[in-house]
Amino acid sequence: MSADNSEFAFIEWARARAAQDERLTVPIGDDTACWDFPEPARCLITTDMLLEGTHFTIPPATPCLVGRKALAVNLSDVAAMAGRPLAAFISIAFPRHGDGLGEELYAGLQELAGEFGVVIAGGDTNAWDGPLAISLTLLGEATSRGPVTRGGAQPGDAILVTGELGGSLSGRHLEFAPRVREALRLHEAAPLHAMIDLSDGLASDLPHILDESRVGAELDADAIPVSESARMLNDGRAPLEHALSDGEDFELLFTVSPQDGDRLLDNPPLSIPLTRIGTIIAERKCELVDAAGNRSPLEPTGWQHRW
Ligand code: ADP
Ligand code: MG
Repeated sequence: MSADNSEFAFIEWARARAAQDERLTVPIGDDTACWDFPEPARCLITTDMLLEGTHFTIPPATPCLVGRKALAVNLSDVAAMAGRPLAAFISIAFPRHGDGLGEELYAGLQELAGEFGVVIAGGDTNAWDGPLAISLTLLGEATSRGPVTRGGAQPGDAILVTGELGGSLSGRHLEFAPRVREALRLHEAAPLHAMIDLSDGLASDLPHILDESRVGAELDADAIPVSESARMLNDGRAPLEHALSDGEDFELLFTVSPQDGDRLLDNPPLSIPLTRIGTIIAERKCELVDAAGNRSPLEPTGWQHRW
């Protein structure tokens, strides 16, 4: 435990617990960290913020799960580029009288950091009269195949998704497994053309690939893998609707050549489900096709912050 709820004591506490890495040549304790990249370096940088009241409430979340999720959402973004995560920078705004909060946040965070070989390389520590806010910046590196962007989908590509979709907000969103290893394995097995992690829901995230790649898509409604938790919801909305529009699945949505799509499905390199859900087409539209051949436009329904 840190000695008291003060910035310097907390930084010293975090510093003493941070893992070491020979590439982190200036660790926590200086004005910036220094990371030594080999040549040529392809550095990935991403950041995500979690706000109490907007992204979580305690309960049902715990500080430990919030810390874990702050890292997990960033790991998911590095996974979506088929990158390897390296180092994390954590900025925290503590509510006053948040006794023990930092230690608990770090417990969840460090467990996941250990699992993915991420070193904690810096951050910023503040207190204020508002609720808990945590922002995490993650440094990563692309593989020699380069980063997989949203812009590389080509007409004829197979559209695939990892795992199962929908119903995450009934609990999975706090403890999801970021698909870092899966992305690396897939990208090693076949050059991925375009990829995104599903944070806002398939119906909202697929259009990002289509827009950036200037293509369209036909989705096979019956092929979409609907999670058990989406089927259990029983809230008057069809399970498929949940799979299309619920956020926070944090699965990978990607496109590959049709030949590579067949190869990946014949010989899946993953221990989690991998499903082909559709095809990229040249025409700039996005349609859902059911077993009877009925077509309906896929409407983006995901959630956006507004102010
Ligand atoms: P400065 O005033 O130069 O910005 P700080 O006093 O904010 O420096 O930070 C001192 C050191 O502690 C830096 O290396 C910074 O990255 C690290 N640090 C501060 N807060 C955190 C935190 N929450 N987690 C990890 N490292 C932190
Ligand atoms: Mg500072």
